[in-house]
Amino acid sequence: MTIQSVNPANGQLLRSFTPLSDQALIEKIGIADIGFASYAEVPLAHRALCMRKLAHLLEHETDDLAGLITAEMGKPIAAARAEIVKCAGVCRYYAEYAAHMLAPEPIDAGSSEVYVRWDPLGVVLAVMPWNFPFWQVFRFLAPALMAGNVGLLKHASNVPQCALAIEALVRRAGFPRGTFQSLLIEASQVETVLADERVAAVTVTGSESAGRAIAAQAGWLVKKSVLELGGSDPFIVMDSADLEVTVDAAVRARCINSGQSCIAAKRFLVADGIYDEFETRFVAGMEAMKIGNPTLEETEIGPLATSAQVEELEAQVQAAIQAGARVLTGGRRMVGDGNFYGPTVLAGVPRDSAVYREELFGPVAMLFRVGDVDEAIAVANDTPFGLGASVWTRNYLEQQRFTRELNCGAVFINAPVASDPRIPFGGTKHSGYGRELSAAGMREFLNAKTVVVSEQPVAPSHEAAEEHVVRHDNNGHSERALHHLRELDDRTLPVK
Ligand code: NAP
Repeated sequence: MTIQSVNPANGQLLRSFTPLSDQALIEKIGIADIGFASYAEVPLAHRALCMRKLAHLLEHETDDLAGLITAEMGKPIAAARAEIVKCAGVCRYYAEYAAHMLAPEPIDAGSSEVYVRWDPLGVVLAVMPWNFPFWQVFRFLAPALMAGNVGLLKHASNVPQCALAIEALVRRAGFPRGTFQSLLIEASQVETVLADERVAAVTVTGSESAGRAIAAQAGWLVKKSVLELGGSDPFIVMDSADLEVTVDAAVRARCINSGQSCIAAKRFLVADGIYDEFETRFVAGMEAMKIGNPTLEETEIGPLATSAQVEELEAQVQAAIQAGARVLTGGRRMVGDGNFYGPTVLAGVPRDSAVYREELFGPVAMLFRVGDVDEAIAVANDTPFGLGASVWTRNYLEQQRFTRELNCGAVFINAPVASDPRIPFGGTKHSGYGRELSAAGMREFLNAKTVVVSEQPVAPSHEAAEEHVVRHDNNGHSERALHHLRELDDRTLPVK
């Protein structure tokens, strides 16, 4: 099967690619393996310089890169631009703070010198989804490369051009050959990559089924895995919430990325006392969203990324209606070309129906009336997922209860759930395990190596000490390393 890049706004085939043969794949893993050995010699300051260069390239080429996202997966252009800028931000964040995160941690354990040092694991495979085709990759890439790991990307098969663009950017930023490669392969070839003994670990962002399959193999191979899977995040509104602000946030939280975000709010649990008012305003807000051509600045909802995506959503809404749900607005695919699905609000989805427990990956909201905090917490936790929760209340005691009792990876009070380089990101239950972003995300793919020195060594000669700094010190601020960096910087200045 060819890997096809198709414009979801009109169904036009943009490009197609032949997947790598298994032989070519093995060669690329070899390049990554050799790349890791030499990349380990690259001082941290050098990596940071390349990472800043990468940020610079992203910022200077935002319009072109955003256009590629819009063409391949239909993200409205303004949001696509914001995604590229956010990627530059995560590069700068890790360039700035990696030295601090990777610094050895001294431990007071008696008379010996004891510390933990953070060593990279090696070649890490990243299996990524199409919904944020740059951001999902960069939030893996930036910490992994700063830590000294090298990356192999198996991107979603509908965004091959984004995958290739990211590889080219990393090379142009000055990272050595083999540091980061995009593998144009099918999902079935992931098994071959992971089974290769030169691949140390895997991170998966995607559906539960992909996560299960890959994690099962990783577990059997005893390789580290991180899973960032689906979500059906609750958006909880209690009586004390400011309705105007809350409704606006609710509509945006459901429609972010045309509804195709793991942390989009999907279930809206609203206190009885304000439910009717909330419902009226929320339905009006959903109906006011501008849906259409994703290349237009004013568009807020574009097409869904693939025809399979829109067909699945259609089937889920139909199943909900058959189970007894009421359609307050929308409820159908839009006529004409492209994968457009109208903003939809469902009420009364039975809690014993299949769809109640599923993730709705498009602009479809489920509304529920709850009597009090106890019921809100019970309904919020009544899901196989546990990614994030957004809670709207000005009552301090309610805030404390939600913070403590919601079973998920993040609770945002009076704010929509969002990712940020500085904040750990990840889930519980079927939303996965492990964390991305912040120091926690970087450390997922590091070996916390314990060092105990009970007798100090004899001091080395001056020459030997200097050589050691050049070759091995992660903070590598030696003149020789910096000279090399400046040369590299000149060589890789952006073309525009
Ligand atoms: P998907 O179908 O699971 O695809 C994700 C990636 O996994 C793609 O590269 C896909 O390759 C690959 N893949 C799928 N099945 C596989 C298998 N059995 N073995 C190996 N690789 C496999 O997910 P998606 O539809 O692209 O993305 C949407 C899902 O991602 C949603 O559930 C969403 O909630 C989740 N997500 C989670 C997060 C998070 O941080 N928690 C962030 C974004 C999205 P192909 O494209 O070639 O099939």
